[in-house]
Amino acid sequence: NSHLAQIDPEVAEQIDNERRRQQSGLEMIASENHTSVAIMEAQGSVLTNKYAEGYPGRRYYGGCEYVDVIEQLAIDRAKDLFGAGFANVQPHSGAQANASVMHALIRPGDTILGLSLAHGGHLTHGMKINFSGRLYNVVPYNVAEDTHQVDMAEVERLAREHQPKLIVAGWSAYARQLDFAEFRRIADEVGAYLMVDMAHFAGLVAAGLHPSPVPHAHVVTSTTHKTLAGPRGGIILSNDADIAKKINSAVFPGQQGGPLEHVIAGKATALKIAGTPEFKERQERTLTGARLLAERLLADDVAAKGISVVSGGTDVHLVLVDLRNAELNGKEAEDRLAQIDITVNRNAVPFDPRPPMVTSGLRIGTPALATRGFDEDAFREVADIIALALVAGADDDLSELKARVTALAEAHPLYTEVADLASS
Ligand code: PLP
Repeated sequence: NSHLAQIDPEVAEQIDNERRRQQSGLEMIASENHTSVAIMEAQGSVLTNKYAEGYPGRRYYGGCEYVDVIEQLAIDRAKDLFGAGFANVQPHSGAQANASVMHALIRPGDTILGLSLAHGGHLTHGMKINFSGRLYNVVPYNVAEDTHQVDMAEVERLAREHQPKLIVAGWSAYARQLDFAEFRRIADEVGAYLMVDMAHFAGLVAAGLHPSPVPHAHVVTSTTHKTLAGPRGGIILSNDADIAKKINSAVFPGQQGGPLEHVIAGKATALKIAGTPEFKERQERTLTGARLLAERLLADDVAAKGISVVSGGTDVHLVLVDLRNAELNGKEAEDRLAQIDITVNRNAVPFDPRPPMVTSGLRIGTPALATRGFDEDAFREVADIIALALVAGADDDLSELKARVTALAEAHPLYTEVADLASS
């Protein structure tokens, strides 16, 4: 038996259950991925025991000679991969990375401009009861009603009117690319800092398949566990030496205590993998899968049910399904796909008339399936299954679609090298 199974069989059993859930279904939550076994080994290591407050070479604890090497590897790889002069790899999460940047660059009460949550922004970009909304004076910008894309003329108008100290560009639910150069021009015009939060599309940037915000922004933040496929965590990048100093002291001791060196080791490995040709090829399949899904969901049989795609397509790893004119709401659509073992999340779409717990949208992403080896044919198949499930009647039998999902899952084995904890 595994150590965990002996000491805590209840937890071991649920870990096994979760692994089997990931193996037998299809994970299409756009912010998720399947990280590699190598990264899980780094995370499940003795590094979890180590206190290392401070930074490599400047620690407040002894015994840091090895974690120093690991953290420096992560820093150097982040700088190389994204072409940045500075990297901080300590933020415990994407939210903490964003909190640290705000802590470093602005003061409570200052004005920030961010994409509204209802139109695809993240909680940390100024949602009312998030720290960002409580500490700062938030002016949200929106997408345009006709294109569903960020309206740069509105961003400029709001920036001139409200004179923000910080402009946040980035998103959690948006299927197009932002114009970073134009954001910077507007930031410079009003004397604001520009922070780009590339949490969702960092893997695409690393692969050279999405414009990089690094040359344009004062600061770039990211998570490491979405398209980047690493451990759960955050990073911060910059090319400005003064900002870099402020960020280091905002992360530690400003926002955090001891860094999670076991996670930082996983970040180092993820950043190494992200520089390989295989990773680029995986990101290409991620984009192809999202494009094929959008195309299928724009077909006549789907449109006939009042279902469409926000912004009419995608340039990234996700598709936003627009159910505003459909009988099916976001909650029902999420449940419908769950019934056939496809995991997605319901999501508000711009100008959504339904309440946030129900919504009129689905956010469907392809990174985890690309990691699992899905090619064009497999993505066409899953796109067809999703389309047919969404157009089905409420009482229709979905067992045939579920069997097609099982066949796809079995054809793309996952974590075959990971042993059962409870029964091994
Ligand atoms: N920024 C963006 C754009 C995100 O989508 C997310 C996560 O969903 C975060 C930040 C926060 O990351 P975490 O969940 O690691 O705090």
